[in-house]
Amino acid sequence: MASGRDHDKATRLWSLPFGLILGLLLNPANGLIGGFAFAIGGLWLSPDLDTQSRALKRWGILKTLWWPYRKLIPHRSVFSHGPLIGTALRLAYLMVWCSLMLLILQPLGLPTPLNMAQTLIELLKREPQAAWALLLGLEASVWLHLIQDGDPLPVEWQRWRHR
Ligand SMILES: [Zn+2]
Repeated sequence: MASGRDHDKATRLWSLPFGLILGLLLNPANGLIGGFAFAIGGLWLSPDLDTQSRALKRWGILKTLWWPYRKLIPHRSVFSHGPLIGTALRLAYLMVWCSLMLLILQPLGLPTPLNMAQTLIELLKREPQAAWALLLGLEASVWLHLIQDGDPLPVEWQRWRHR
């Protein structure tokens, strides 16, 4: 299994080529979005947020947001390291926190979670390619992480395979 340092190094190394390829396939702006998403996916939204990791430390005081996630999800389980599932769950988890914060900060005149969701959906409808570039970047960084770990299958699947 690769160390946190190895994961960081590979993320930094592959962000630019990934963004360039995506830029050629889609357009430069979406290549930039995809490259940034790749870096963010590897350095901040890593599958290793399910354990004490460098990615977790990067959140600074906000790392406490990931405490329930770490308690609920065993390290290297399908829910953090599963292709598509891991990214989907982390994004959903962040959205729950954002919704909670918006609710708490309602007295300051911030939009309601429902308004925010509607704005987000409109944005995704207006810029579908950018949304795909973002999701592809996040997910590709997870695949790099899994490939580096040597076995792209999360622990549960390995157990199932050996049954
Ligand atoms: Zn990992």
